[in-house]
Amino acid sequence: MNYEPIKKPDIGTLSVKPNLSDYKKLRQDFRWEDIRRELDGLKGGGLNIAHEVIDRHIKTALKDKTALLWEGKEGESEKYTFNDLYKLTNRFANVLGGLGVKKGERVFTYMDRTPELYVCLIGALKAGAVVGPLFSAFGPDAVKDRLKDSKAKVLVTIPRLVKTVHEILGDLPDLEKIIIVNRRKRPYELKALEIKYEELMDVALDAFETVKTTNEDFAIMHYTSGTTGKPKGAAHVHQAVMGHYATARYVLDLHPDDIYWCTADPGWVTGTSYGIFGPWSNGISQVVYEGGFSANHWYSVIEKYKVTVWYTAPTAIRMLMKAGESVVQKYNLKSLRYICSVGEPLNPEAVLWSLRVLGLSFHDNWWQTETGCIQIANYPVQDIKPGSMGRPFLGVTAAILDENCEKEMPPGKEGNLALKSGWPSMFRTYWNKEELYKSRFKGQWYITGDRARMDEDGYFWFVGRADDVINTAGHLVGPFEVESALIEHPAVAEAGAIGIPDPIAMEVIKAFVSLKDGYTPSEELKRDIKNFARKKLAALACPREIEFLPGLPKTRSGKIMRRLLKARELGLPEGDTSTLED
Ligand code: AMP
Repeated sequence: MNYEPIKKPDIGTLSVKPNLSDYKKLRQDFRWEDIRRELDGLKGGGLNIAHEVIDRHIKTALKDKTALLWEGKEGESEKYTFNDLYKLTNRFANVLGGLGVKKGERVFTYMDRTPELYVCLIGALKAGAVVGPLFSAFGPDAVKDRLKDSKAKVLVTIPRLVKTVHEILGDLPDLEKIIIVNRRKRPYELKALEIKYEELMDVALDAFETVKTTNEDFAIMHYTSGTTGKPKGAAHVHQAVMGHYATARYVLDLHPDDIYWCTADPGWVTGTSYGIFGPWSNGISQVVYEGGFSANHWYSVIEKYKVTVWYTAPTAIRMLMKAGESVVQKYNLKSLRYICSVGEPLNPEAVLWSLRVLGLSFHDNWWQTETGCIQIANYPVQDIKPGSMGRPFLGVTAAILDENCEKEMPPGKEGNLALKSGWPSMFRTYWNKEELYKSRFKGQWYITGDRARMDEDGYFWFVGRADDVINTAGHLVGPFEVESALIEHPAVAEAGAIGIPDPIAMEVIKAFVSLKDGYTPSEELKRDIKNFARKKLAALACPREIEFLPGLPKTRSGKIMRRLLKARELGLPEGDTSTLED
C-alpha cells in the first residue's frame, strides 16, 4: 500500500530540543554517557530508578510541581506533587524495611491504578526490592505462576482481589506478607499473612535513605505477554532509567509544561517505563485514569486535564475509530499537541483517521518488554510514513538479519529484526530461565522475534512475529498486511489473520473479523470483504476464508492473540492464556 508520507505534521511552533530533523548528525553525536550525566545518581554513584523519578526533583524547583493527576473510576480527582510522592514513597520504603525486606527481594503489586500502586512501586524500589506489577484483572493461575516463579516475599493488593490470592496461597511458600490497600474503606477483616496498608503508612516516617543500588542491580520484572509460550519474567536493572528518560524526552517529546497521559496499566511494561519512569524522570505532570476503556470517558479525561501528549495503543485507537466521529465532536480536545502509539502494528488507516479527526497523526513506535524502552520510533519533527514504525532511537542500532541471523539484509528485504546489544534498558535475564535468555542472542545481536524490513530511508516496517508469518505457496505473508487491508473495509472493526494448513499451498490465509456497530454478518458481506481485499492485496495474500467473531481474543495490552485464534481453529491446546483479556 502506498501512502504519501505525512510531512512533519502537527507540532506547530513548539521548538524541539534537540531538533531531530538532523537525525544522522544526532545519531553520530548521541552518547549514553551524556544521558547519564543529565541524571543524578545516588551518593556513591549507582543509579536507583526511584531516586531519578522522584527524589532528585526535591532538590529543585520541581519539588512542588504536580506529578500525578489522578482520576478515580468513581469520579474522584486527586493531585500529588513530587514532594507528596517523595514522602509517601519514603514511608512505604520504611514499611518494607520494617517487614524485613532486603535488597533484591521481590515485592509484587496486584491492584487497580490508584495512587497507592505508584507509591508502592516506587517505595519498593527505594527499599532496594525488585518490583513486579501484575494486572488487577489477572486470575488465580496467572498470579500464582508469577509469584511462585519470582518467589515474591510481599504482595500488595486490594480487598476485591484478596480472594484470588487466598485460593493460591498453598502454592506460595515464599510469600510472607500481604499488604491490603483499602482506599475506599470497605469493611474488611484481616486474614492469614495480611496487614493493613493504611495503618502501616500512618506510623511510618517521611524520611528514608534510598538503599544503595548499583546500575546493574535488578529493579523491575515484567512477565511478557504470552503471545508465544509460557510467560517469562524479563528482569531489568536500575540503569534502565537512562533509557526511559532519554526516550520519553526525544520520542514522546515531553516538555516542562506538558500534561501527559499514558493509557497503559503498569501491569504491562509501557505502564511502568512510560506511565511512571519516563515522564517523572523528566519532571512531567501526568494523568492516571483508574477506569477502563470507554470513548466518552477517555475523551473527557483529555478535555478535563487538558492533556497535551497522549501515548496509547492501536487497539484503543481502533476502538475509538469504531465509536465514531460524533463522539469526538462532543469534546474539546484542542489541548492535544502530540500523540503516540505502541504495542502492535498501527494501521495506516488509524494514522489517517487521527489526522482527519484530531488534526494530529499518531506517531507509532516499537519496542518490547525485553528492550525496556522504545527502540524504533517516528519522531516529532520527522515525516511519518503511515504504517512504518519509524527509525531506530539515537543510541540504538537496529538491523534486518537473514534467516540464520548472521548477515544483514539490504534495504527492502524482509528478515529478522535484531538490535545491537548494549543499550542501558535492555533486560538482563529471564528470571530463572538463563538459557532461554541466552538463546535470544546471536553474537552481538539481540534477536527480537519479529520480522520486519527496512526501506532506503532507514524506516522500519513491521511484518509480524517470526512465528506468525504465514508461508503460503512458498511466499511469506505478514498477517499485519492482510489485517491492515481488511480493516480499511467500512464494515470491519478488527481483523486477525492466521495461516491454516492447505494440502497444496502448505498454508492459506484465514481471517477472523469483528464488525463495526450497525453491520450484521452475512455471506454477502463476506464476499464483499473478500473482493475488497483482492483489490488491495497480492492474490496470494488474500484470505481464502473469512469468519465473523463478535470480538477477537486479545492480550490485556491489546494485542490480537493470533496464536489463540490458530489453536481454536485447529482444535489444538490453547496454551497459556493468562494474559488474555476478559
Ligand atoms: P510486549 O513485549 O508484550 O510489549 O510485545 C512486544 C511485541 O509487540 C513486539 O515484539 C512486536 O511484535 C509487537 N509490537 C510492539 N510495538 C509494535 C509496533 N509499533 N508495531 C508492530 N508491532 C509492535
